[in-house]
Amino acid sequence: MKYMKPLIAANWKMNPVSKKEAEALFEGIKNGVKGASSEVVICPPFVYLSILKGLTLGAQDVYFEEKGAFTGETSALILKNLGIEYVIIGHSERRKYFNETDEIINKKIKKALEAGLKIIFCIGETAEEKDAGKRNEVLQRQIQDGLKDVIDIEYINIAYEPVWAIGTGNNCSVEQTKESIDFIRKFVPEKTRILYGGSVKSENSRAYIEEVGSNGLLVGGASLNAEEFVKIVKSAE
Ligand code: PEP
Repeated sequence: MKYMKPLIAANWKMNPVSKKEAEALFEGIKNGVKGASSEVVICPPFVYLSILKGLTLGAQDVYFEEKGAFTGETSALILKNLGIEYVIIGHSERRKYFNETDEIINKKIKKALEAGLKIIFCIGETAEEKDAGKRNEVLQRQIQDGLKDVIDIEYINIAYEPVWAIGTGNNCSVEQTKESIDFIRKFVPEKTRILYGGSVKSENSRAYIEEVGSNGLLVGGASLNAEEFVKIVKSAE
């Protein structure tokens, strides 16, 4: 596929810590990205999802049941009914701190698709897996198990996020990212966007689109600074 509109997503993680700061950050981004040709999605903490208006929103996680006695959880149907378009599933922090397995991730993906949400599905190897030469094996397992029996693949965006590159300042090189993205491409249709994530900043963002040929970016830390995130969005133009 020659041109796919890049998807630039902001993962705010568990930040900022007040509604006032969340609104200020959101407004700064909203004003800065006006007229951008990329698709911009903001994924704030759940509690801010119904407050922030004027840009496409995504949740950072979802539960795999629809409704009922699951204290503390939020379903895909609740998100969809609130007007949320996207959800991040399988982020490495969820895999690591909340023991999310490929099987759980697969259930979440299916439920989110059923509700009509678009998905940013995160995959990536740890430093140990990379050093043991297991990167491709891990990526293949995560894709095949995470997307097991999934048919609506067109609503899935894959974010290649090497775990060792997340929040470390140690972004993946152009060559290695290209290798991984080319590998991932073998398992997904041409129209599936494949993003890169891991210590993206405005100084390195353009290379992932232009040199690597990725279809977008998932930005964590740098998305908490409106000016910096806007620069990243503009670098993908
Ligand atoms: C992320 O949380 O998905 C991420 C890529 O974080 P950072 O940009 O901070 O490395």
